[in-house]
Amino acid sequence: MFWCRNFIKISTATKAKSPITTNLILTSLSHFSTANQPPVAAQPSGLGPTKADEKPRVVVLGSGWAGSRLMKGLDPKLYDIVCVSPRNHMVFTPLLASTCVGTLEFRSVAEPISRIQPSISSAPGSYFFLANCTAVNTESHEVHCETVTEGDQTSEAWKFKISYDKLVIASGAQASTFGIHGVKEHAVFLREVHHAQAIRRKLLLNLMLSDVPGISEEEKRRLLHCVVVGGGPTGVEFSGELSDFIRSDVHQRYTHVKDYIHVTLIEANDILSSFDDRLRHYAIKQLTKSGVRLVRGTVKDVRPENVTLSDGSEVPYGLLVWSTGVGPSPFVNSLRLPKSPGGRIGIDEWLRVPTAQDVFSIGDCSGFLESTGKPVLPALAQVAERQGKYLADLLNKIGKEGGGHANRAKALDFGDPFEYKHLGSMATVGRFKALVDLRQSKEAKGVSLAGFFSWFIWRSAYLTRVVSWRNRFYVVINWLTTSVFGRDISRL
Ligand SMILES: Cc1cc2nc3c(=O)[nH]c(=O)nc-3n(C[C@H](O)[C@H](O)[C@H](O)COP(=O)(O)OP(=O)(O)OC[C@H]3O[C@@H](n4cnc5c(N)ncnc54)[C@H](O)[C@@H]3O)c2cc1C
Repeated sequence: MFWCRNFIKISTATKAKSPITTNLILTSLSHFSTANQPPVAAQPSGLGPTKADEKPRVVVLGSGWAGSRLMKGLDPKLYDIVCVSPRNHMVFTPLLASTCVGTLEFRSVAEPISRIQPSISSAPGSYFFLANCTAVNTESHEVHCETVTEGDQTSEAWKFKISYDKLVIASGAQASTFGIHGVKEHAVFLREVHHAQAIRRKLLLNLMLSDVPGISEEEKRRLLHCVVVGGGPTGVEFSGELSDFIRSDVHQRYTHVKDYIHVTLIEANDILSSFDDRLRHYAIKQLTKSGVRLVRGTVKDVRPENVTLSDGSEVPYGLLVWSTGVGPSPFVNSLRLPKSPGGRIGIDEWLRVPTAQDVFSIGDCSGFLESTGKPVLPALAQVAERQGKYLADLLNKIGKEGGGHANRAKALDFGDPFEYKHLGSMATVGRFKALVDLRQSKEAKGVSLAGFFSWFIWRSAYLTRVVSWRNRFYVVINWLTTSVFGRDISRL
């Protein structure tokens, strides 16, 4: 009950600050009482506004690439930092596909927030709340939140409010389903660690079920047919990981069913369309060599055991992974803030939401307003991370110049605007091969490579990007263990 402990801390730490805080104390205490008391009026409790002699409070919504990089860079001497997120860790997404087949363990790609910004678990006014933000009131400088519940066994969601001096919305995007029937119910997305866990369990379950006596040939083929929808970098990398797993582990350890397992990658347009033709053709050749069947088609309907394509053909599957890009989340859609093309939260060159004082937005949930004349940036970790770093520096500057409290930064000079320079793209395609494109765009001049050396660059580059030395160590050990002993195939 981590959040309950925090509420007790909040109650005592912010004694009699405001009517809101008094309510917090009353409702918090009544929440813990077990006696048969009449129900307390549903008045959300929370953290009240900060006083002029206290540190200003930065509230960060989200613990992804953008929010985590921001919190890492914020100076805890200048601000109290409060993070609200439904997960208490950051996911190192570029290596997430490797965890689905056991090349890496799940913990190697999850970075606890308290390690990224230690003050969040130690400074008296800084907190992490395992909760979702449900609404933002920009007039009163407050966010409304609701704790995360899990299954029937946990207590009801607890609602509370937090006043902010500066608010950073970094709540990311969500997987696009284009309203296709059955996707949410039957497909697995690949965005969170629990998605990777679900994929690994399903894959190993199907491998074991297909070996049971009496299973028909057709059912064996269905169970062991892994279908990936979406030929962007994530779909391609996952298909590559799967084919490596099949080639080096299934062929050795599931010899009875090794000839039944197949991977199909379905894409409506070109695969890896952000890479140039030479690199794309290389990827197609490698994937095909590894046994991945590439199908050009659009999924129209998803049912529990098969998908229907636009040409009417049916594709039976045992595992369906959906990776067709991202769009705004229902939370972002619900916010009454200006929107950029594509429905993201509209921001200006300093990553501010121009209509709301003290509100900023970074990462996949935000995009430049049309009026800035800048294009909406791609949904990439490198964009989110650099926006997080830029904003941390900007907020530290504002804090040092005395603009940290609510409505105090109006007259300040914000300095240089945020500039994005694309560093390049990389994607692995399996069999120790990868694509590396270090050019600003497909048309620009510069380095673009494919092959084993690129794979080495891919691994080295991501290893250096892993946030902590602890996880870097885990990743290296996992890679070594896998190459010596093979992937772990226990279904835990
Ligand atoms: C499998 C995979 C591989 C990828 N590989 C690459 C790559 O190789 N290179 C690259 O540049 N990019 C890659 N990306 C894209 C990259 O991960 C995203 O662009 C990046 O995560 C965006 O960061 P973000 O902080 O905006 O959002 P996220 O990282 O998605 O974080 C959003 C956070 O907000 C939280 N949240 C959501 N709703 C709420 C709410 N209502 N209240 C509070 N918190 C909320 C979420 O729980 C999460 O903590 C990959 C993505 C995936 C899924």
